Amino acid sequence: MDKKLFEPPVIKRMHTGMPGKMGMPGQLEPITHIDQVSVSSLMTEFGSPLFVLSEKTIRETYRNALDAFQSRYPRVQFGWSYKTNYLDAICRIYHQEGSWAEVVSGFEYDKAIRNGVGGRQIIFNGPDKSDEDLIKAINNHSYIHIDHFDELFTLIRLADTTAAKPRVAVRVNMDTGTFPKWDRFGFNYENGEAMGAIRKIIGSGKLELVGLHTHIGTYVISTAAYRIAAEKLASLALAIERQFHQRILYIDMGGGFASLNNLKGAYHSAADTTPSFDQYAEAITGALNSAGFDPDNLPMLFLETGRALVDDAGYLAGTVLATKRLMDGRKAMIFDFGVNLLFTSFWYDHFIHPAQEMTETTEDTIVYGPLCMNIDMLRDQMQLPLLKKDDQVVVSRVGAYNMTQWLQFITYRPNVVLIGVDNRPHLIRKAETLDALIQHELTPDYLST
Ligand SMILES: *Cc1c(COP(=O)(O)O)cnc(C)c1O
Repeated sequence: MDKKLFEPPVIKRMHTGMPGKMGMPGQLEPITHIDQVSVSSLMTEFGSPLFVLSEKTIRETYRNALDAFQSRYPRVQFGWSYKTNYLDAICRIYHQEGSWAEVVSGFEYDKAIRNGVGGRQIIFNGPDKSDEDLIKAINNHSYIHIDHFDELFTLIRLADTTAAKPRVAVRVNMDTGTFPKWDRFGFNYENGEAMGAIRKIIGSGKLELVGLHTHIGTYVISTAAYRIAAEKLASLALAIERQFHQRILYIDMGGGFASLNNLKGAYHSAADTTPSFDQYAEAITGALNSAGFDPDNLPMLFLETGRALVDDAGYLAGTVLATKRLMDGRKAMIFDFGVNLLFTSFWYDHFIHPAQEMTETTEDTIVYGPLCMNIDMLRDQMQLPLLKKDDQVVVSRVGAYNMTQWLQFITYRPNVVLIGVDNRPHLIRKAETLDALIQHELTPDYLST
């Protein structure tokens, strides 16, 4: 018979916890397999910790989202938000599905080109575009979304030097009834700044105004906010038609749809508050369909959804390094991954599952990462079974932003594996090594000996 795990007895005050509307928070089901591949075999082959992505989930989620919009509006185009997850293999899945690229830097722009995306299928957002970036985007006929007046004047200046005429859209910020208001990107709608920028663009004669863009926030759970934003962009497009006799070819509603991750401090679980793609689509297309556009000349609807498309497709598998009792009697666990790999743990109460069948018994546990740094805490409190050293865990819903915002801090970033639709693992990013990391370092001669 196996020796049973011994837990020294402790006396603690009983906490009944904070019951939510749904009662007491329960234990999460084990995740032993991802798309039929066993988690422990993955870690044996590719190491621990390990990011795992499901191609099947990516494609299914994408098709659901696209269908929600296409079934309500005839002209829809998605642009994959590179910063949400710009691993080449992941981007290429979206491009295969028909998605264009939405990029916010010269680096992301070049990555999209490398991934075979045509210049005319790149949407270039963000406040930081160098002259060199802009010239490239102009000559490739990409959609340049202007963020501020300095960029507008730069484009007018550059237009004299380029063969192609820049195709531009104006990024618009606005009050959609949500808080906080995002007014740092683009031109304001309510105070007339956006119309002012449009007047300058058209008056210059040097830029071709093709679209209007907004990105109202991220993890926005209010569909009403999207309806308001679509109404405001539509009315701006119609005002442009009236005043300048110029048709706007597309309305870009950006991204920002919430995923099913629970926000820290939220009373309700995301399962109860996150709208479906159908609900988001109904709000946006409802506004566009009733805005008064010529039905034979509807503007194209662009969407740049990131988080909601990829979050569910990502997993982080790892191993328990140690368990501890803190001075106040609380149970603590140390995992081999922390905030270095799960940047989103600053906003989310992540779902941490055991990777093997466990006993029913759970205990309030505080979960730390491996970094020798006080900030490295993944959960300040959650019900976990009595995991012990070398047990394995899986964090679900980590596909968005973690594989781009991860930190090379104290230790290496691990392998990333894609489970293909063939249910086989494919390595898509190699773990870092000392050699790879020091490649960019230089030691002055006088320090070399
Ligand atoms: C980040 C970003 C997106 C994607 O946002 P999500 O909240 O992940 O959907 C889309 N458009 C722009 C301009 C962005 O900056």
